[in-house]
Amino acid sequence: AAGSKDGGVRTVCSYCGVGCGIVLDVVRDPADGRRRAVRATGDRAHPANAGRLCTKGATSADMMAAPGRLATALVRAGRGAEPSERDVDAAVTEVAGRLRAILDAHGPDALSFYVSGQMSLEAQYLANKLAKGFVRTNGIESNSRLCMASAGSGYKLSLGADGPPGSYEDLDRADVFLVIGSNMADCHPVLFLRMMDRVKAGAKLIVVDPRRTATADKADLFLQIRPGTDLALLNGLLHLLVAGGHTDEEFIAEFTEGWAELPAFLAQYPPERVAGLTGLPESGIRQAARWIGEAGEWTSCWTMGLNQSTHGTWNTNALVNLHLATGALCRPGSGPLSLTGQPNAMGGREMGYLGPGLPGQRSVLVDAERAYVERLWGIPEGSLRTEVGRGTVDMFERMAAGEIKACWIICTNPVASVANRRTVIAGLEAAELVVTQDVFARTETNAYADVVLPATLWAEADGVMVNSERDLTLVQGVVDPPGQALPDWRLIARVACEMGFAEAFTYTSAEEVFDELKQAWNPATGWDLRGVDYGRLRDRPVQWPAPTADGPDRNPVRYLNDGVSQTLLERPDGSRPRLVFPTPSGRARFFARPHLPPAELPDDDYPFVLNTGRLPHQWHTMTKTGKVAKLNRLDPGPFVEVHPEDATALGVGEGDHLEVASRRGRAVLPARVTDRVLPGTCFAPFHWNDLFGEYLGVNAVTNDAVDPVSFQPEFKVCAVTLTRT
Ligand code: SF4
Repeated sequence: AAGSKDGGVRTVCSYCGVGCGIVLDVVRDPADGRRRAVRATGDRAHPANAGRLCTKGATSADMMAAPGRLATALVRAGRGAEPSERDVDAAVTEVAGRLRAILDAHGPDALSFYVSGQMSLEAQYLANKLAKGFVRTNGIESNSRLCMASAGSGYKLSLGADGPPGSYEDLDRADVFLVIGSNMADCHPVLFLRMMDRVKAGAKLIVVDPRRTATADKADLFLQIRPGTDLALLNGLLHLLVAGGHTDEEFIAEFTEGWAELPAFLAQYPPERVAGLTGLPESGIRQAARWIGEAGEWTSCWTMGLNQSTHGTWNTNALVNLHLATGALCRPGSGPLSLTGQPNAMGGREMGYLGPGLPGQRSVLVDAERAYVERLWGIPEGSLRTEVGRGTVDMFERMAAGEIKACWIICTNPVASVANRRTVIAGLEAAELVVTQDVFARTETNAYADVVLPATLWAEADGVMVNSERDLTLVQGVVDPPGQALPDWRLIARVACEMGFAEAFTYTSAEEVFDELKQAWNPATGWDLRGVDYGRLRDRPVQWPAPTADGPDRNPVRYLNDGVSQTLLERPDGSRPRLVFPTPSGRARFFARPHLPPAELPDDDYPFVLNTGRLPHQWHTMTKTGKVAKLNRLDPGPFVEVHPEDATALGVGEGDHLEVASRRGRAVLPARVTDRVLPGTCFAPFHWNDLFGEYLGVNAVTNDAVDPVSFQPEFKVCAVTLTRT
């Protein structure tokens, strides 16, 4: 592998979607000759972070050295039996044989795949190719369903394609930031620091959140919104932008459609009504609208607060409406910038691992796109099916009902992470075959597996990651994996070969897979990696669209130049580039999205609203960060935040144990008494689960009602009781 100047190896962080560049110092252990990571520092040359890292990225080498890695496969003789070690070759043969038998006996829809935004692009591509192209099931789901599905479906409706139209550079130029439903300071810390550089230089920061987070602490204007009322606020802001004359009529006329019905719709959202719905002061709503309206450039950032909602898709539409109305997108400093949770969830969405997706931002629902991918995969015309599933929750429900008989879970921990997790447990218990593929032996989900396949960690194998701004960074396999652990892509390819699909899954390297997947080039959306190869990526990251090898490495703005070439910034005659969106008309679309309440509201039986989220020094279900002593010292344990007024009424003091119970289940957590949450609401991080103690998993409580478009569950709002135990 190519080394950086100081002798380390340039790679990318394996945690969040900011995608910070890391320089990993690797040494060869004289005792056994194995290569080990000893230190991770920020890569100053990486466009995402310019050398900065948060605590999680900075402790990557500690995580890699943690004990508990899988060095062989584990196989259970029967449910309830202790797993025993098995040679990986034998385990691959067993998995392939059992999947093949279920496929032959029950048909393709008896098989399902549950994959991850932490896998490499190559592994995501092969998982989807195996499921849709060769098993011929569309029963492939991903943990992106829990995370960015609503942003994706919202983008597709509003702009025609998934993904932000702009880039991180927008943070360096915006005059106003609207951060809504995102605790960036804790969850995307390096990007937040970049934003704060601009705020310190005079830009205004508006933060909308039901909880006074670390992000809110830095806001010029904090709007502590009633949970689940974002649509009312977004419509109210647009109402005020129109009333204040802050719309860009020229932009609306030239590049959008659907505006005509908006004025009458927005009349229903005057500030006094919006204040009533959201619990916000009218003055604050007016102030936010004024700052946005008067901004030269403004950028919005959002994550789970908008996405994890039964109207998450509409939330994205309503937010994009604000940008379209002010003409504030597809120009430096302005645009909607969704912040991806996982290091390669952008890549996974591009590989089509959700719902009807196909590689290259294509879909089985579009005849020409289906035919294109059938040719790419060398399968007969008509092989790809057009029936599509209804998301992760539905998949586990169908497993619990016996329709799905086998599930292969790769690089994710659904027993801990899916809303109302008892459905996942019921599904895995009912399935004939549960295969998991992971790096550490003990996870909540591995406890339900018949076969556990040992996978490599990210710096132990080659693969490409795509961050929130479409930047591709090559991860190089520079550390020796333990024992028989294999890269995810190779395990998938080997099982596929043994299932009888060797003609399409015989690869000698990840690079070979990458060279195939980039043939899914999609001129309509600008997804274009034709100019990228491992050689170029060994040198530096490249942001798509990248049509030519000698083109620029950064292509920060999409939808330019009539949609033909999306990388030229000016027309040959020097005139303003025309925007063309990949919608049928070529125009971006306004949608009138009325305010709707969350699926479950507090009542006499369940009088509190529970909100969940993340902390700065742990990550997701802690399968990695939970093994790093430094991070465990910084974020040592679970808790539930309650407002002092509620604590008094409940007779609860700091550290007392509180049962948080919903119609679905319960968790018991130490109380943290704080006015960061509103009276009548509570907040709990979802990191701690069964491995750390009984009744810690807050996803036993959360609601699995889903958005009807994105199928994303409403983690952020559910009704609970709080009882001192
Ligand atoms: Fe890693 Fe995200 Fe932290 Fe950057 S901000 S170091 S990508 S966890």
